[in-house]
Amino acid sequence: MNIILLGPPGAGKGTQAQRLQTDLGMIQLSTGDMLRAAVKSGSALGQQAKGIMEAGKLVPDELMVSLIEDRIAQPDCAKGFILDGFPRTEAQAVALDKMLAKTGKKLDEVIEMEVDEKALTERIVGRFTCAKCGTGYHDKFKRPKVDGVCDVCGSKEFTRRKDDNAETMKTRMAAYRAQTEPLLPYYRAKGVLKKVDGMAAMDEVYRQIRAVLARA
Ligand code: ADP
Ligand code: ADP
Ligand code: ZN
Repeated sequence: MNIILLGPPGAGKGTQAQRLQTDLGMIQLSTGDMLRAAVKSGSALGQQAKGIMEAGKLVPDELMVSLIEDRIAQPDCAKGFILDGFPRTEAQAVALDKMLAKTGKKLDEVIEMEVDEKALTERIVGRFTCAKCGTGYHDKFKRPKVDGVCDVCGSKEFTRRKDDNAETMKTRMAAYRAQTEPLLPYYRAKGVLKKVDGMAAMDEVYRQIRAVLARA
């Protein structure tokens, strides 16, 4: 099964995608994570993306489309993938349709995660991640079981994203509204859009997503 998790920054896409990957073996394709890896490695893509990401704006469509096209073509994605952070513009959505059609794949579900803007900012400013295995945490909503130690890999090193601040969040939300929200009617018209309550607790959101997938 191939799905998209669609929602504003901080909606919980990464959190839910990690769980689906662990439980169902689907591959999480987070364009944000891929870009942050590119920035860290200093590749040409990373050099182009760095300033744009720090400002909270969107990286150009052509770069994103070729990044995803190469990734989806890799053999592990045959197990099914979860797009987390892509597509973010109509041009990306159209390009995705084309690349799937070309490789005989299809999109099974697009799951919209709806969350109030105030809650989003609180989620974003409290977000941190294990530096070693990438597991996501939150100062208030998902602390590690032992303070300062990753539940999954035992690492004591965590990172916070430079763009996870209230100021950049405003630009990211504006980009979401102007460029990504129009994808909701795009997918509704195709009959693949399902909504879950992103304001619910993480376990409940997960339960709702699994229910959608079970009916697919
Ligand atoms: P969040 O999960 O908080 O919504 P991401 O990690 O998905 O944020 O993305 C971080 C940044 O990476 C975005 O603000 C944007 O600059 C860039 N980015 C990620 N995915 C895309 C995409 N599909 N198109 C354009 N830019 C992207
Ligand atoms: P996204 O990938 O959509 O930007 P994340 O999955 O990274 O969002 O979640 C943003 C932050 O909010 C993380 O710190 C995460 O632990 C926390 N979070 C995720 N889902 C929920 C939820 N349902 N309730 C409260 N906090 C949540
Ligand atoms: Zn870890």
